[in-house]
Amino acid sequence: MKRGVPEGLWIRCPQCKATIFRKDAEARFNVCPECDYHFKLPTRDRIRQLLDEESFEEWFADLKPKDPLGFTDRILYNQRLQAEQAKTGMPDAAVVGKGFVRGRPVVFGITDFAFMAGSMGSVVGEKLTRAAEEATRLKLPLILVSGSGGGARMQEGILSLMQMAKVSSALARYDRAGGLYISILTDPTMGGVAASFALQGDITLAEPGALIGFAGKRTIWNTVRLELPEGFQTSEFLLKHGFVDRIVPRKDLRTEVARIIDYCEP
Ligand SMILES: [Zn+2]
Repeated sequence: MKRGVPEGLWIRCPQCKATIFRKDAEARFNVCPECDYHFKLPTRDRIRQLLDEESFEEWFADLKPKDPLGFTDRILYNQRLQAEQAKTGMPDAAVVGKGFVRGRPVVFGITDFAFMAGSMGSVVGEKLTRAAEEATRLKLPLILVSGSGGGARMQEGILSLMQMAKVSSALARYDRAGGLYISILTDPTMGGVAASFALQGDITLAEPGALIGFAGKRTIWNTVRLELPEGFQTSEFLLKHGFVDRIVPRKDLRTEVARIIDYCEP
């Protein structure tokens, strides 16, 4: 199933409201030709855009989510998982593996917004942890692309929360072993994902206009009654305030990642 840029010959850009020819957006890495709005990108397209053709080898594809709490919100968590799996064709929100970026071998991982808002449950945490451990073992750069609006996945309770610590520990061991971790933040990167692996990169890149933060504006207002400046959770604001190292348009990401690897890895 096709996701990201909506179906149809013509689509409407959510940012500039222009009606654009879908093929024009697709030809520009799913970016609006009028205003450079970056549409959310499905995992398959991200892999195709960032990694060398046919170079990706997926790891741990057999890991599947469970429902240890028997959780129910509007529907049973088990049913929700089945619906998300049918919608996306993915067992859970993360994909990890090995690939090449302009000929340079890397360990690669991604969280996909399309699957339960890219939230981090046990499978996402386990896959990212194993990716960091494999990158340590193989002495390879680690590239993680995050697209997660939900942070930790509440349907798995504490088991979901502990993934933040687990992934962070694996990244700390990777760091001590001298590994290079490039974190790529895409729209959106929020909650427990932002509060763990996404903001622990040696180098933090962000796509233009991405929403990046911990709690949303309304939650902050309801909690501490603080009015925050316009656009305070965007890539551009975070670059200005030192949270993000560089904003990279999608079409330049592959070249930029290759350049950073060359610069950092002697
Ligand atoms: Zn636009």
